[in-house]
Amino acid sequence: MQSVQIGTATLELVEGDITRQDTEAIVNAANTSLLGGSGVDGAVHRAGGPQILEECRKIGGCPTGEARISGGGRLAARWVIHTVGPIYRDGKHGEAELLAGAYRNSLRLAGEREIGSVAFPSISTGAYGYPVAEAARIALTTVITFLKTHPEIALVRFVLFGPAALRTYEAALGELSPAGSDPATG
Ligand code: ADP
Repeated sequence: MQSVQIGTATLELVEGDITRQDTEAIVNAANTSLLGGSGVDGAVHRAGGPQILEECRKIGGCPTGEARISGGGRLAARWVIHTVGPIYRDGKHGEAELLAGAYRNSLRLAGEREIGSVAFPSISTGAYGYPVAEAARIALTTVITFLKTHPEIALVRFVLFGPAALRTYEAALGELSPAGSDPATG
């Protein structure tokens, strides 16, 4: 577990399961249909129950790089922010900007709904094939930039699936930290 302060906000990196977080919102790495899938998406719908899928049907989909919101069903989190990361091809098809958009639009939605704490999985680094180190750098840079200008969000937690992903995010944060934040204990 690693934690840094970004202005008044806390940014945490933990190893764990996104569906078990007690933040006000968790973010789902969804696909454009919002009708469920594998990985995080499958886990969120399994743990949250059918109510989330019912709401997603009404929302009617989400373009890549954007975000939509539903209730949390049976999850501890009150809200699920569904975002769609890019499918990684070669890095030359706008993937970085779409991935940044997924994080930025998720946080924007949280801010608009006065959601003060958000947990993210590592978007696009599973079935969508984004190289983890590069995705981590984009994810952290985007979140840090957002938090600096949006004090209404008090906590962003990255929930990494397994020790290798956690280490990769920790290394990426270490490289950004001198310019991006003040290291805190924890
Ligand atoms: P995408 O389709 O955006 O690549 P995936 O759900 O396939 O999304 O994977 C995104 C990342 O989330 C992967 O690194 C995967 O290991 C991780 N992951 C899978 N299940 C969970 C979970 N329950 N909690 C947190 N992370 C998860």
